[in-house]
Amino acid sequence: MLFATATACSASDPLPLWKLTDPGGNGSAVHVLATVALSQTERLRFDPAVMAAFEASGRLVLPNSAVLSKQNALIGWKAHLAEGDNLANWLTPELFSAYVEAVGRAGLPSTHADVTAPWFAATRVRVADLKRTGFAPEREFEVYFAHLARERGEPKQILPLEESATSYDRSVALSREIQSQVMQRALIDSERARIDLPRAMQAWRRGDAVALDDVLRATDHAHPELLASRRLTIERENARLADGLEKLLAEPGVHQDFLLADARNLLGEAGVFALLRERGLQLTPVERRGGYATPYPAPPLPETETSRQHGRVLLVGIDGATLRIIRPLLETGRLPWLAAIARAGTSGNLRSHQPIYSPRIWNSIATGKAPENHGVEGFTFEDEAGKQRLYLSVHRKAHALWNIVSAAGKKVAVVNWWNTYPPEVVNGVMISDHAKPTRLAELRNLTGAETLDEGTRVFPAHWHPRAVGVFANRLGIPGLDDPFLGNLGFAEWMKKEELSKRFRDDAATARIALEVEAELRPDLMMVFLPGIDRVSHRLWGSVETPERYAKPLDMSPLQREAGRDALHAYYAYSDALIGLLSASYGEDDLVVVVSDHGFEAGSHLGDLTGVHASEAALDGILFARGPGIGPGSDTGTPSVNDVAPTILAWLGLPLGKDMDGRVASFLEPPQSVTTIATYDTVEIERLEVAPSGSEEEILDQLRALGYID
Ligand SMILES: [Zn+2]
Repeated sequence: MLFATATACSASDPLPLWKLTDPGGNGSAVHVLATVALSQTERLRFDPAVMAAFEASGRLVLPNSAVLSKQNALIGWKAHLAEGDNLANWLTPELFSAYVEAVGRAGLPSTHADVTAPWFAATRVRVADLKRTGFAPEREFEVYFAHLARERGEPKQILPLEESATSYDRSVALSREIQSQVMQRALIDSERARIDLPRAMQAWRRGDAVALDDVLRATDHAHPELLASRRLTIERENARLADGLEKLLAEPGVHQDFLLADARNLLGEAGVFALLRERGLQLTPVERRGGYATPYPAPPLPETETSRQHGRVLLVGIDGATLRIIRPLLETGRLPWLAAIARAGTSGNLRSHQPIYSPRIWNSIATGKAPENHGVEGFTFEDEAGKQRLYLSVHRKAHALWNIVSAAGKKVAVVNWWNTYPPEVVNGVMISDHAKPTRLAELRNLTGAETLDEGTRVFPAHWHPRAVGVFANRLGIPGLDDPFLGNLGFAEWMKKEELSKRFRDDAATARIALEVEAELRPDLMMVFLPGIDRVSHRLWGSVETPERYAKPLDMSPLQREAGRDALHAYYAYSDALIGLLSASYGEDDLVVVVSDHGFEAGSHLGDLTGVHASEAALDGILFARGPGIGPGSDTGTPSVNDVAPTILAWLGLPLGKDMDGRVASFLEPPQSVTTIATYDTVEIERLEVAPSGSEEEILDQLRALGYID
């Protein structure tokens, strides 16, 4: 009731658009768009006929003014209270504690259950708080259209048929006992924000109001005592809506209006449509015109499917992996999973860009744009006060693959990708790169404290405890042991303990990715594993020829061998993770493994090891297999900017004309590569920008790696 009324329709659904006219009238019409409450993660997708009706209308008509305050104000529920009374007195103790518990479970402070006027109590919840629970008002049909109506050069009038206060009054006309139950359940039900979409759409197609209501209000049916009063409420709503529509039509002058109404109010014997027909008005369904508009300024998608069946995509990012290590290991059979990808598809170099700072490059891989165009230029920047600040997701100006693929209605999962904090609202799951190693999480783990607030690092909220739990408890993957464990020849400065920590981090990242994969089966999974880069910075000296260094290497032959073995073991371990991650991706799917740069001899924090600074380290790797990629081919050394466009083309989605990359040559040209001007005009929705609690830890790590001073 509070949370979910986003609306969508898919290719097989009838268009829920109706045209209301008066056969005896002057030709005015009201287009009525029926909205079906759905999961919030469904993206808005509209038939062009809907948009045409909206464009032609002079006004956007909404059933209730409550919608208009949703974007930035409080939403709530109120009930009559006597003067001086408060909510705790008004509800039974059981109801009140259940209510407070529900508020707490939703991750909201219970102080919002306050008394705001002498005569009523309101459950006041800030939208910013709600967003932590995954609530996204801008995804709601009404809010989206209200936004469109306001944004036009000549804004449309937005006309609510009823003030929200009136509907509150209708609610408080219910008996006090019923009200208190409704109020308390409203919050409990809000957690069930996922509605059975297929059943709802089936009911809608059959025009079965009872079945639709069943789906939308499933929990009401567990409370038969509430059903009768709720029916009464809906009947009153329906009568008010029918009156409002009749009045609109009867206004003088020929005019067009566009009304959004909840489908459950429209259908059925006591529904608005029946009432309007009784009054002699005419309702005609508007034919679908094929194709869909999306919130992006995309051209309608082709009506016929291209011949390529679009499977799922796995994109694994391995920081700092290079063919210099991989090639010899492939030949000796130590990287069976990468070898299998190379046999079935393409393998070779991926060209990076200077300066070689990982965040710049990983954002190019995700966006198809050069750093100056995506906005993340390095690890940190100086703010106005001269303080070093981490680049966060808010600094990325360009849409990433996950934004684009989400908006196309496909499911995405993003795990640990660079600069994904604060997490973005996606059609799926985003475990941000701040979910990982934090002092706070470790403290919490040590103390068992529940109250340490580490900000919101995961979307949606219910994945937060799981992801943080995996990282904090260092849950790994059974059967994959620390590759450094039996290696006794390490030099002291190689810091074996620190290397083992990298292993545990990658293990936990892969593990949470596998959990998301198993539950979500996303259309696009992106996982970032930084271990090879970190380990290479320590051990590279042991694989480089000594002549490459100005000074003699501080390494005995035994230590040298130990370092080389350890680096090779870490590559083999990463290969095993690639195997696990790609296990559920079949022949119809696309699997891509990339890195952002290679390594070269250099002095790193005083040690003679490996760095990535010059042309010699400019090439990362690309391994890919899937339909449209010839077996055993070379990559042709595409740019890191080409990864996102290639994946979009493979998925049959349009490329942005403002992307710097193009479709890589190893992909057989898809039947049609469509383009749009840009994806970047749509605002990216992110969770609140609050400190994640990991900033200092990450800055420390970057200092330890020598990336920043
Ligand atoms: Zn890197």
